[in-house]
Amino acid sequence: MPRENIIMECTVCKSRNYFTTKNRRKHSERVEWRKYCPRCNKHQPHKESK
Ligand SMILES: [Zn+2]
Repeated sequence: MPRENIIMECTVCKSRNYFTTKNRRKHSERVEWRKYCPRCNKHQPHKESK
């Protein structure tokens, strides 16, 4: 299975908070997840960063 390492970046403060992998078959495009951001101190949308 082709799994790709990605970095999830907070869309508000641009802090790189999460390192994860994604499945290319499930997510062929850039993914966006709501995750907790320590810098914003709340949940924010996080986008895949390159
Ligand atoms: Zn943030």
